[in-house]
Amino acid sequence: MNHLQKKDLQYIWHPCSQMKDYEDFPPIIIERGEGAYLYDINGKAYLDAVSSWWVNLFGHSNKRINKAVQKQVENLEHVIFANFSHQPAIGLAERIVNITPAGLNKVFFADNGSSAIEVALKLSFQYHQQTGKTQKTKFAAISDAYHGETLGALSVGDLDLYSKIFKPIMLNTYKAAGPDCYRCPYGKCRQDCNAECFEHMEKLISQKHKEICAVIIEPLIQGAAGMKIYPPIYLKKLKEMCSQYHVHFIADEIAVGFGRTGKMFACEYAGISPDIMCLSKGLTAGYMPLSLTLVTDEIYKAFYCEYTELKAFMHSHSYTGNPIACAIACESLNIFEEDNVLEKNKQKSKLIGDMAVKFAEKHPYVGEFRQLGMVGALELVEDKKTKKAFDWTKRIGYNIYKIALEKGVLLRPLGNVIYFMPPYIVEEKDIEFMVSIAFESINQYFGR
Ligand SMILES: *Cc1c(COP(=O)(O)O)cnc(C)c1O
Repeated sequence: MNHLQKKDLQYIWHPCSQMKDYEDFPPIIIERGEGAYLYDINGKAYLDAVSSWWVNLFGHSNKRINKAVQKQVENLEHVIFANFSHQPAIGLAERIVNITPAGLNKVFFADNGSSAIEVALKLSFQYHQQTGKTQKTKFAAISDAYHGETLGALSVGDLDLYSKIFKPIMLNTYKAAGPDCYRCPYGKCRQDCNAECFEHMEKLISQKHKEICAVIIEPLIQGAAGMKIYPPIYLKKLKEMCSQYHVHFIADEIAVGFGRTGKMFACEYAGISPDIMCLSKGLTAGYMPLSLTLVTDEIYKAFYCEYTELKAFMHSHSYTGNPIACAIACESLNIFEEDNVLEKNKQKSKLIGDMAVKFAEKHPYVGEFRQLGMVGALELVEDKKTKKAFDWTKRIGYNIYKIALEKGVLLRPLGNVIYFMPPYIVEEKDIEFMVSIAFESINQYFGR
């Protein structure tokens, strides 16, 4: 352990970590980043195959974005956002309204994904309170959902790993069994099913809609659950049902927004407009914490009246609408427009798919390779036929992660799911390196 690692462990409590693990696997101290690569203090390079927790779009220390940061800090680093505003936030809000699904016309700012979710839940609840639907006090979500880790966000999530111990202090929410395409109980496949699994949500909404403010969902990819991909038809059915029963449809596009799935926003695949949409992660191309919650005019209007009626949305964060973060988000949108990013990503995702599919087919422990745009995932199973999952206590994903790190690729598996979610600037040779090292590491772990 070097002196920085020792000091790190003396003072720092790392996120989502059993700190005891760090005894024989101390934190890697990163000195700089360039493009898709991170470099530690010994100069060792790591290909960032997970975009540093799904946030980076155009590479580390991107020259163009760096310039935008410099320009912004010379002018204004931050200003209170109540009664005050600034060009970067105004420009960003206008552009975001123009590129998101129709009807989302008002933008509320916060500073991380979980906060955007809290805002969405509070807005939906308060809307119903102020429009005479006071019995609507609950939220609904699907199994294996993930929406962040603050208490409200945790309550609409369904992953025990994060939430089990907190159940006594969480909101009481409804959960319906959601899509599980790899192990589809209806024996269908995601390419051509009719979202038969929607029956569970259908039943829940038709029985409990009087109590339900909103249904929240991660469109098309349940990220933290292991990049579980499901078809757009599910979203279409959900949107229809929500409209029919005056239940808000909250699209959590925090992970899938900004081109991850191949379209700018995943909702576009289903041709739907949610009532509320949450954005973060890729919003600032991986530079700064910032999040947005977009709503329809109808929701906005339910809060708009004389101050003394006390219907305002009394929610704020100190760093709300930070100008540096907004300037970065604007520059990121410039890159999207000028560099034809979504078009170029098509070839990149095809290359990831072509390489991974071949490996997955013949590997006895790779149950499925699934992909949507710039997200590809390999699910490791004990038995390919029965799709039996490996015992989680073996920590197979974690062990493969350590092998791959040695070889210079930062994969950060979700349980037994190893996934590729690289920055969009990866080149062909980086993709080949990333995918082949993942396979080598899997094989090395299984002694093949
Ligand atoms: C990461 C994530 C969040 C939470 O965002 P944070 O910025 O980590 O709080 C919420 N929803 C989804 C789908 C996410 O992937």
